[in-house]
Amino acid sequence: PAFVEFRDVWLAYNDELQAKNQFAVEAIDLQVRRGEFIAIVGPSGCGKSTFMKLATGLRMPSIGKIRIDGQPVTGPLKISGMAFQSPSLLPWRTTVDNVLLPLEIVEPHRSQFKARRKEYEDRARRLLQKVGLGGYEDKFPWELSGGMQQRASICRALIHEPKMLLLDEPFGALDAFTREELWCILRDLHAEQQFNVILVTHDLRESVFLADSIYVMSKSPGRFVVRRDIDIPRP
Ligand code: ADP
Ligand code: ADP
Repeated sequence: PAFVEFRDVWLAYNDELQAKNQFAVEAIDLQVRRGEFIAIVGPSGCGKSTFMKLATGLRMPSIGKIRIDGQPVTGPLKISGMAFQSPSLLPWRTTVDNVLLPLEIVEPHRSQFKARRKEYEDRARRLLQKVGLGGYEDKFPWELSGGMQQRASICRALIHEPKMLLLDEPFGALDAFTREELWCILRDLHAEQQFNVILVTHDLRESVFLADSIYVMSKSPGRFVVRRDIDIPRP
């Protein structure tokens, strides 16, 4: 069975818009297999963020059904990690403490987090090493470059070992060299850990480099016009 399944999904942001037949996305059909890396490309305003909100359960469809990991989506999902164009690290926390944040939130009791803190911190440090932030674990965000902050934000998205990683233009603000380096890091992490990825991007080259399949969303109405499965063997 598919890991992510959208069945004829439509979303209007409110009843008024729906009455006027103004949907932000229309007739989205999607079947993503477990571990698949998909990219969604399209012009601004075409419905990419709306799609992300639906995929995380932050918005419910006006019409249609969404299932993720076999379950109907009824509210915000805990199984996903997210990273956006802006890294938005907390300035008063060190790199490692920023990365640990989702675990602090997910653990229901503060004492449980404290009891496992050492184990979690080791996990965070290993992940930071992997993305090239060894030596910066105990620095504060202002001591890191934009690219380094973005690496940290990707570690933060992955620290609770999510089944699905949602990336909204995560490399958009980076210089070309840093961007391509992060592409490689992300590709390696995905090959190793096999989480699902949904990447929203304006960058066609990025989507071809990273994704197993690419969906092109049209501007109006917001729906997929093409699905392109790329036949590139992955390492
Ligand atoms: P949410 O998705 O939780 O509503 P947003 O930040 O997207 O959060 O929107 C907050 C509010 O701002 C919305 O309820 C809406 O009224 C308005 N809004 C945001 N973006 C748009 C837009 N592109 N067109 C019209 N209204 C918008
Ligand atoms: P993208 O991420 O591709 O730029 P969006 O999903 O933000 O596109 O927007 C899709 C459509 O939905 C646009 O027409 C936008 O104006 C509208 N929209 C987005 N957010 C809201 C909102 N919160 N309320 C009303 N309309 C919105």
